[in-house]
Amino acid sequence: MTETATAAAGQVSDEELLARFPGQPVDHDSAAHYRGRLAHRLLINRCGDCGTWHQPPRPVCPACWSSNVVATEVAGTGTVHLAIFLHQGPPAPGVDYATPHPVVTVDLDEQPGLRFTSTVVDADRERVRVGDRVALEWIDRGGAPLPVFRVVEAAGSAGGESA
Ligand SMILES: [Zn+2]
Repeated sequence: MTETATAAAGQVSDEELLARFPGQPVDHDSAAHYRGRLAHRLLINRCGDCGTWHQPPRPVCPACWSSNVVATEVAGTGTVHLAIFLHQGPPAPGVDYATPHPVVTVDLDEQPGLRFTSTVVDADRERVRVGDRVALEWIDRGGAPLPVFRVVEAAGSAGGESA
């Protein structure tokens, strides 16, 4: 993270932020997260008092009820917790359900049970498994940066089920 990137993302007005992410759940609680996307920083809310992370964004810490919640950058590394393959879904630029489209929920390394859901790049159905190690990447979708994952270390043959 750099101060420059932080400042640049912070200068985006609420109106521009909404315009950059049409159809996305941009609101008071998630605005910092989406501003982070513009700077290619994956920001997850963390409690400034007890240190607990939570996702999706909420205004109050689920562990200690503190409202001292700070959007904080994560490394974006983690382990695939759930992998599904969509054969149909809402139309989205760059999404081809005929492939079908992979969706993974990743256990982020920062905290057990802290999970973020997105897609996987360059991975077909046979190559995405529960237990795979992944790393964060950024792609452009509809003109907006989208945090995605890439498999960096395949799980063993004991990998879990994929629906
Ligand atoms: Zn807390």
